[in-house]
Amino acid sequence: MQLNSLTEEELKELMPKYNEKAFRGSQLFNFFHAQKKTDFSTGNLPKKLVEELEKNEEIASVKIIEEYASKIDETKKLLFELGDENIVEGVLMKYKHGYSQCISTQVGCRMGCVFCASTKGGLVRNLTPAEMLLQVYEVEKKYGIKVSNVILMGSGEPLDNYDNVLKFLRLLHDEKGHNTSYRNMTISTCGIADKIIQLADENLPITLAISLHNTNNISRGKIMPINRKYKIEDVISACKYYSEKNSSRITFEYTLIHGQNDNESNALELKRILSGLNSHINLIPLNPIEEYDEKKPEKFQIENFKKNLEKLGLNATIRRELGSDIDASCGQLRRKYKRGVNSEICSSN
Ligand code: SAH
Repeated sequence: MQLNSLTEEELKELMPKYNEKAFRGSQLFNFFHAQKKTDFSTGNLPKKLVEELEKNEEIASVKIIEEYASKIDETKKLLFELGDENIVEGVLMKYKHGYSQCISTQVGCRMGCVFCASTKGGLVRNLTPAEMLLQVYEVEKKYGIKVSNVILMGSGEPLDNYDNVLKFLRLLHDEKGHNTSYRNMTISTCGIADKIIQLADENLPITLAISLHNTNNISRGKIMPINRKYKIEDVISACKYYSEKNSSRITFEYTLIHGQNDNESNALELKRILSGLNSHINLIPLNPIEEYDEKKPEKFQIENFKKNLEKLGLNATIRRELGSDIDASCGQLRRKYKRGVNSEICSSN
């Protein structure tokens, strides 16, 4: 296990192995999570302990290798290189209330949603807790900021890497570390119903977002293979359980694909599906990719769909297209980078 993926308790428990007192474990935790460091030569830990740890233990590292800065707002899209040279991406957004960062939880993804670039090469591997934390720490160090909201909406399916994601969120919450409240963390999932129930039972008020994208099982199954295992009804009943346990509102992400999921009957279906659930709908215009070149709806069509939902008493917003001049969503940046076609994206470097 990587040292910077361990809790303070686990680091303290490790110290006797190195003939050190437990308080050295607390110093290590402070070094990794308060000072946000990974290089022992920049700390003041005993030399002998450092030598032994370097010989026997692993430390995760993450480097920002590219930054694509929007010219119309302050959004930045970033590429991170992991210790084994795998690459993941993320986004930093500035809102009135502070900074939100979207991070990745896996290299690639095995969920197979047809419209999503992240899943096209399948799952490469899970990210460790430290690799998720370091995406936040490296961004904060680079820009001299504090990230207040962390959203698990980069590449990967967070609930398919459940244990590492939970450990990451607990470390992020630690008051001796980043000290982020659970309500300021959002897990976005394609709908792994039994993991949603497991998450509800953790009794942590993490914000939950569901990628719904269609209102009937046959159509949803065609674009999201996970729907063959967990039907819309299974996901909704898991959401009800989650919402009741955490007294929280669930966000439903709904990518609008013109002619497929944006007519009046879809609005009516949404009303039926979400009845009795404290929910909010976030409308996302499709960002067409090479393998899924379906229609992105026009602005007025998105507005119309939103009005239809509101007439039915549903709560809906259209996702602000931050950094819309950087033509890249969910997995697209990494693929372009790997193919060496960076010039297509406006790079600030
Ligand atoms: N696996 C998680 C989180 C990653 S995807 C999930 O499924 O929720 C983050 C969001 O972007 C999801 O709602 C996803 O469905 C959406 N998305 C992916 N590719 C997209 C595209 N080409 N256009 C619009 N939204 C997309």
